[in-house]
Amino acid sequence: MPDYSALKNRFGEHCLFNEPASNFTTYRAGGRAEVIVRPADAGELLWLAAWCRACSAPLLVLGRGSNVLVSDRGLPGVAALTERLSKIEVSGGAATAQAGVLWDEVARLTAESGLAGLEKTSGIPGSVGGALRMNAGAFGQETFDRLVSVEAFNAAGEPVRLFKKDIKYGYRSVEGLAGLTLLSARFGLEQGDPAALLQDRSRVLAARGAKQPLDFPSAGSVFKRPPGDYASRLIDAAGLKGYKIGGAEVSAKHAGFIVNSGGATASDIYALMGEVRARVKEKTGIELELEQILLGEFHNSAGGTK
Ligand SMILES: Cc1cc2nc3c(=O)[nH]c(=O)nc-3n(C[C@H](O)[C@H](O)[C@H](O)COP(=O)(O)OP(=O)(O)OC[C@H]3O[C@@H](n4cnc5c(N)ncnc54)[C@H](O)[C@@H]3O)c2cc1C
Repeated sequence: MPDYSALKNRFGEHCLFNEPASNFTTYRAGGRAEVIVRPADAGELLWLAAWCRACSAPLLVLGRGSNVLVSDRGLPGVAALTERLSKIEVSGGAATAQAGVLWDEVARLTAESGLAGLEKTSGIPGSVGGALRMNAGAFGQETFDRLVSVEAFNAAGEPVRLFKKDIKYGYRSVEGLAGLTLLSARFGLEQGDPAALLQDRSRVLAARGAKQPLDFPSAGSVFKRPPGDYASRLIDAAGLKGYKIGGAEVSAKHAGFIVNSGGATASDIYALMGEVRARVKEKTGIELELEQILLGEFHNSAGGTK
């Protein structure tokens, strides 16, 4: 087993052992990460990746943990959280942001600067890196719409610069970024009226507050939109709003969300995901595809209440 004390020596208070996933994921559930590191910048993240390679320690890079479910059995190895890679610059019709910048900062600052094209993605609670990796989007705009290029490094630690045209991407999936650690990205925008863009932003934030169960921990929409339909409509039609397994509940406000209504384990959430898929399949014949990412080991279980 690697001697993780080397990481403590290098990163000090930014290296934590046995950190519960409730502290770094928005589901506020799941087991413990063996080691958490919060690198200060790209250089520290590269150093960490090289150290993990040299010690054969698994390395997982996470942003705000807003699209993941960590198993109750925990995460072996090192999880690097990018939140300190937080520089952003908006000038000359473009925004350049490091991977750990909160996506909503990009949406807000570009709108304030009169740059149009990302205002409808306001309120997505992830990081720039996570938003790119997922091609996150809302209200008809997606991260990739305005992407110009990304800076990253590959599994061997070599720097990589990719332009959008060279990256294979689709709806909530970006094959072309697999295996890369994203460091920063540049977005090109159009000139717009700041007051109108900020008004659009306010409308989007109000719509999110009205539709989404933001009072409870969750990781947003659990399933991808099936072609020509909405997962939330199908789940609602299957009579699953309010359906519970342990502390996990299909939100009564938005059936596309599973919320941690109090004390949910990752197993509760995982079992509920399975139950929802099975019931929707039974009722409609449609197989819902998971949008959220499962980290660690999961086993099937069943049983719920309403
Ligand atoms: C209340 C709520 C509302 C939401 N609304 C939306 C919405 O409207 N639209 C939408 O698309 N999503 C939504 N989401 C889901 C989530 O916010 C997005 O998918 C977001 O982009 C994930 O970013 P993150 O930083 O939290 O990524 P994480 O959850 O930390 O990670 C997601 C994936 O990205 C990878 N990753 C993260 N950073 C890097 C990096 N620097 N380099 C390489 N890989 C990286 C991780 O390894 C993981 O595979 C919502 C979530 C919540 C909780």
